[in-house]
Amino acid sequence: MAFTLPALPYAPEALEPHIDKMTMEIHHGKHHNAYVTNLNNALKDHADLLALPIETILADKCAKVPEAIRQAVINNGGGHANHSLFWTTLAPNAGGEPTGEIGDAIKSTFGGLAGLQEKMNDAGTKRFGSGWSWLVKKGGKLEVYSTANQDSPIMVGDTPLFGIDVWEHAYYLKYQNRRPDYLKAIWNVVNWAEVNKHFKA
Ligand code: MN
Repeated sequence: MAFTLPALPYAPEALEPHIDKMTMEIHHGKHHNAYVTNLNNALKDHADLLALPIETILADKCAKVPEAIRQAVINNGGGHANHSLFWTTLAPNAGGEPTGEIGDAIKSTFGGLAGLQEKMNDAGTKRFGSGWSWLVKKGGKLEVYSTANQDSPIMVGDTPLFGIDVWEHAYYLKYQNRRPDYLKAIWNVVNWAEVNKHFKA
C-alpha cells in the first residue's frame, strides 16, 4: 500500500478570485504530489508503516518511525496530512459566519469569528519563513497557534480543525509579498461545515 494524492474536491479555479487557478494547480498537483511521492519513498522499506493511517504515523512526533527516516516522514507525511485537510476545509461559495457547534465554540473561546480571524492571521503573519497557522482542538478546547515547515498538530496530540498554509507557494503568484492580504482573503472560502465535522469527531 502506498499513499496517494487525493483529488481536489472542486475545480482548481473554483476558489477565485481569492485563490487563483494556477496557484491551486501547482500547489495541489506539484507540491502536495511531491509530499506524497517523498513520503512513499521514505517508507518504501517499511510495509508495516505504509499500512497505517498517516495520523497514526505522525502521532507522538513519529515515535514509531525509525530515526534515520523520521525527519523525512515529519516533513512529507506532515505535508500530506496538512494539505489533505487544507483542500477539504476550503470550498467555493463558502466563508461567512461559522454555524453549529464550531460556531458556538468560536463565540465562547474567541468572542466570535473576528476574534478567531485576528488570532489566526496574527499567528500566520508572525510565522517567520514557512509554516501553518492552525485552529486546533486540544483537550476538548479550541486553540490557535502556528507551526514551522510541515509540522502537524497531530504530532503533539492535537486535532487540527482548520489550517492556513503560509508557505509562499500558497499565495505568491497572486499576492507576492503580501501575506496579510492572502490571510484576509482566505476567510471567504472556509468550509465551516467541514471544520465543524472535525470539531465533532
Ligand atoms: Mn502548501
